[in-house]
Amino acid sequence: MNNLYLKSFIKCKRKAWLDYKGNKSYEIWSPHQSIEIVNRYKLFYKLSEGDLYAGTKACQKGSNGVIGLKVKSKLINNINAEIHPQLLKRVNGQSKWGEYKYIPVVYKLGHRTTKEHLLDLAFCSILLEPFQESNIEKGFVISNYANRINIEKIDLNKRLKKKVINIFLNLNEYLKGSMPEITKDRKKCTICSWQKFCDAEAKNHGYLTEINGIGSKTALLLQENGISNIKELAAADKTELGEKLFQFKEQKFEIASKFINQSKSYLSATPIQINQKENLSQFLSTKASGFFIFDIESNPDEKHDFLYGFLRINNLFEKIEDDFYDPILNLKKNGKKSHQEIFQKLFSKENWPVLHYGETEKIAIINLAKQLHLDSKKIESLKYRFVDIHLMIRGSWILPIRNYSLKTVANWMGFKWKQKNVSGSKALYWWIQYKTTLNDIFLKKIIKYNRDDCLATLHIVRWLIKNNKKY
Ligand code: SF4
Repeated sequence: MNNLYLKSFIKCKRKAWLDYKGNKSYEIWSPHQSIEIVNRYKLFYKLSEGDLYAGTKACQKGSNGVIGLKVKSKLINNINAEIHPQLLKRVNGQSKWGEYKYIPVVYKLGHRTTKEHLLDLAFCSILLEPFQESNIEKGFVISNYANRINIEKIDLNKRLKKKVINIFLNLNEYLKGSMPEITKDRKKCTICSWQKFCDAEAKNHGYLTEINGIGSKTALLLQENGISNIKELAAADKTELGEKLFQFKEQKFEIASKFINQSKSYLSATPIQINQKENLSQFLSTKASGFFIFDIESNPDEKHDFLYGFLRINNLFEKIEDDFYDPILNLKKNGKKSHQEIFQKLFSKENWPVLHYGETEKIAIINLAKQLHLDSKKIESLKYRFVDIHLMIRGSWILPIRNYSLKTVANWMGFKWKQKNVSGSKALYWWIQYKTTLNDIFLKKIIKYNRDDCLATLHIVRWLIKNNKKY
């Protein structure tokens, strides 16, 4: 049993079981994992000041950083244990190799240090101590913050070590048993490689967390009140359910109605229109004859928007030609040339609305306009031109889907991305590969993906207008 299963177990018991015993053909490649591996290696290399080598020989040599080491040992109850520490960092001390020793280091993507990081460090330290014949009191959690290494020192005390041993014993028991249930906190599933497999099961069982807006706490509350699946939720009475959802205060009846409608839509696979006021075609025709569709690709860790994609639509139902799409690449952060191009593009059609999916695009452009000290009147006029299609669909329709991301909504409406299994994370993965190799093939993939995101947004707009017509 190794620390990788332990990490999975801390995240989700079922994940550890599936990693260990599951049918691997149901597992899907996760770009998150690949992004993490690439970023991690870069940061480890930096932290080791280039003196980064692999395996036991590197420890004997006294390399500044050591990766790729495996250490096996027997733990309590004679259970075999193994660690694959992400990185060992040389520090002052005394070990079997000489006047130095190693401490474990883990990488974190994002800002939050979690239980998983702390327990991984503690578990690695337990096996490393006899291996290097030296005590380990500290470990590091490192992350990349604005291109600098952020180091957090973690105290690997007895309490933490005892805790991880108990979890390890618990993991061993779980792995002997049958597959654990799907986690109650389905947020964890978004970046899990078993997501598709678990989604199919959740759908079959009609779990409440399949309903948009229902997280683990709300599901528990509903279960305590006798509603344990989607069918029962669909049949609930709005007023009675509203009373049970007291934590939503004055919005409780509105939310109850949303949950009921969402369940009905989910079960019948039929969309439900909840608001007839939003009429996109009227909005577009009163504003102007044409509009832009706009979508950004970015690297959130480095706060770098590397592609701004514009789709020019002169007439809503015209055929889209290749030259309607214009990708503005921003290869270097704060590239002035690309920023000028963006505003030239936006102000080339001053009255055209700018349609986008989600709030990011508007926020990014308004911030950029402020950074460039654009005239305040121009900024104000820009603000009114942005139309968030995500908000519009959420405010007017309930669709038989689990979430309202661009991918899920457009897919449900019949749009197909030209490249298979794509996502924002995959575009980010291509971007990281481009930065490492400078091979234009990755930029081409990103541009193709971004163009499809713009076309997917247009597909939703057309659907909204077509289906609103009858009102
Ligand atoms: S998809 Fe969710 S429930 Fe399934 S293994 Fe992953 S985290 Fe656990």
